[in-house]
Amino acid sequence: MQANLHRKDNIYPLEKPEREDAIIEEVRKIAQKYHIDEIIPVTTGDISVAKWVQLKCKYGCNKYGTNWCCPPETPTSDQAKALLSEYKKALLLCGRMENNQFYRDNQKKRRIQVNMWKGTVALERHLFLRGYYKAFGLVSESCALCRRCTYPDECVFPADRRPSVESWSIDIFQTLKNIGKPFKIARDVAEEYPYYSLILLE
Ligand code: SF4
Repeated sequence: MQANLHRKDNIYPLEKPEREDAIIEEVRKIAQKYHIDEIIPVTTGDISVAKWVQLKCKYGCNKYGTNWCCPPETPTSDQAKALLSEYKKALLLCGRMENNQFYRDNQKKRRIQVNMWKGTVALERHLFLRGYYKAFGLVSESCALCRRCTYPDECVFPADRRPSVESWSIDIFQTLKNIGKPFKIARDVAEEYPYYSLILLE
């Protein structure tokens, strides 16, 4: 009986590509509730990490040093590279949104951020339960689960917080170029803008 528990199929069930495709389809259906309209399987080799990304966090973002999910609390670029090297596959989650509150720090902006955040965490959880035990989400923008982050005091929702894509020094635009996906940067708050999150799989 003990030998059965350690059968290869039980330990690595996701090596079966047809099962993996079915699970990704399940995830696509759940994603629709969260304004995530495209899910692209990528290899972690496609994900570009660059030191300059944290310059944008440190100089130009008012969340720097104020949030558990942003630098300097999050991994350095070297640590992010080392962590990514422990994964081979990831899912890139893409959404589009109109949000003329983008540069404001108000309730409307926060509601939109929280919805996106919850979507990534919900998909990560689904993937975990379907066998991707290493699944880990990197979300879009800083954590907005609380009106004001308690950092550096104790986090209010530690089970739900996840680092942002940018906080891992991920150059998302280079990553899109690497996979051949076109993108357009919104030039005005009235324009629809794209957002991206990632789930590291296995
Ligand atoms: S859950 Fe609240 S306290 Fe924790 S990182 Fe997010 S905003 Fe900060």
